[in-house]
Amino acid sequence: MDRDMDRKRVFDKLAAHGVCGLQPYVPGKPNDELEREYGITDALKLASNENPLGPPPAVLEALRGELDAVASYPDGSGYHLKQALSRKLGVAPEAITLGNGSNDVLVLLAETFLEPGVEAIYDQYSFVIYRLVVQAADAVARVAPSLPADTPPRDGLALGHDLDAFRSLLSDRTRMIFIANPNNPTGTWLAGDALYAFLETVPEQTIVVLDEAYGEYVMRDDYADTRAWLEDFPNLVLTRTFSKIYALAGLRIGYALSHPDLAELLNRVRQPFNVNHLAQVAARAALEADAFVVRARRMNADGLEYLTRALTGLGYSVTPSIGNFVLVDVGEPAGGLYTALLRAGIIVRPVANYGLPNHLRITVGLPEQNARLVATLEGMRSSRVGSEARSP
Ligand SMILES: *Cc1c(COP(=O)(O)O)cnc(C)c1O
Repeated sequence: MDRDMDRKRVFDKLAAHGVCGLQPYVPGKPNDELEREYGITDALKLASNENPLGPPPAVLEALRGELDAVASYPDGSGYHLKQALSRKLGVAPEAITLGNGSNDVLVLLAETFLEPGVEAIYDQYSFVIYRLVVQAADAVARVAPSLPADTPPRDGLALGHDLDAFRSLLSDRTRMIFIANPNNPTGTWLAGDALYAFLETVPEQTIVVLDEAYGEYVMRDDYADTRAWLEDFPNLVLTRTFSKIYALAGLRIGYALSHPDLAELLNRVRQPFNVNHLAQVAARAALEADAFVVRARRMNADGLEYLTRALTGLGYSVTPSIGNFVLVDVGEPAGGLYTALLRAGIIVRPVANYGLPNHLRITVGLPEQNARLVATLEGMRSSRVGSEARSP
C-alpha cells in the first residue's frame, strides 16, 4: 500500500508537466455495465450523442466485404477516402487530414501548434477535450465565459459562446482558438455572419479550430457552410467526424479541412497508420449514403422538438439545441435524477465536469426511446407528487 503510494509520487514527478494536472475524460456509461450493475436487460443509452439508427446498411455491407484485409496495414495516406471527401466536399485532397476520430485531429493540432508559454482560448461550456489537449501541451488556457443563462435573446443564446469574450482574451500569445458549432454540451450555435465577422478580427498567427462534429444535423438557414471560408482565412481549420450523424463512433474516424501547408504539418506529427482500414472503408461508403443522412437529420429534428416540448412541460428548463442532444437544467444538483434514471435503465450524461452540476445532457433517440425517457420522467414526477401529498 505505502509502496504503491510512493510509486505514484515518483511517477507523478516523472510525468511531463502538462500531464500532472490532467483529469481523465469520463465517457458515458456503457449499456452492458448498467445492465450488470442493476440486473436489467433493456438499458437505453442516451448519453454519448450516438446516432440511434446505427450505420447505413451499405456501410455494414462494405465492412463485411473487407474483414480479411485487417491482416495488412491500412493505407497510411488514406488516398481513396481523401479522394472521396475531396469530390464530396469540393476541397483539394491536400487540404484534408484524417484522424482516428476528430478527437485525434484535435490532439494533432495541439501537438503541432501548442507549447509552454502560448495561449489557447475556448469557451467555459465547450467540449472537454479542448481543455485536455491544451493542458497536455502545457499551454496556457484562456477560458471565455459563456453567455449567462438569463441572456436576453437579442444578445445571443443563453449558455452559448460569447464571441466578444473570446475577442477580449486575444493577445499576441494566442496560438489557437477552439469553437464548437454547434457546441457540445449546450447545443447552442453561432450564426454564420457573426462567426465570419469574428474571424476577420483574428490575427493570422492565431489558428481558429472550428469543430463541426454536429454540423450535418443542422437545419438552420443562418448556419454557414464554412468550406469556402478556408480560402479567406488561411488560419482556419474545420474539424468534422463520422462518429455522429454517420453513426461510426466505434470505428474512430474524423478529419480536418485546412490550408494544405497546415495539413502538411499535421501529417508530420500524425502516426503513420492512425486511421484503420475498416474505418476508411466505412467512411467512404458512408459518404454515399445521402438518403440516410437526410432521414437521420429529419428524425433528429423531430426528436429535438418532441424532447424540448415534453421536458419543458415537465418543468425543466431546456436550452434550445441544434445538435442531436439537449441540455436540461433540472433545477437542483442533477446527480439524484441521473441515478434515478439509471435505476430505470436509462443512461443520460451528467455534465458537472463541464461546470454544469444542475444539468443533464440527453441524446435524441428513436421516437420510442424518447417516449420511454419522457414516460419514465413523468412516472417519477407523479410518484414524487403522490408521496409529497401523502406526507404530513
Ligand atoms: C463527439 C464530438 C467530437 C467528435 O469525436 P470523435 O473523436 O470524432 O468521435 C468532436 N467534437 C465535439 C464537440 C463532439 O461532441
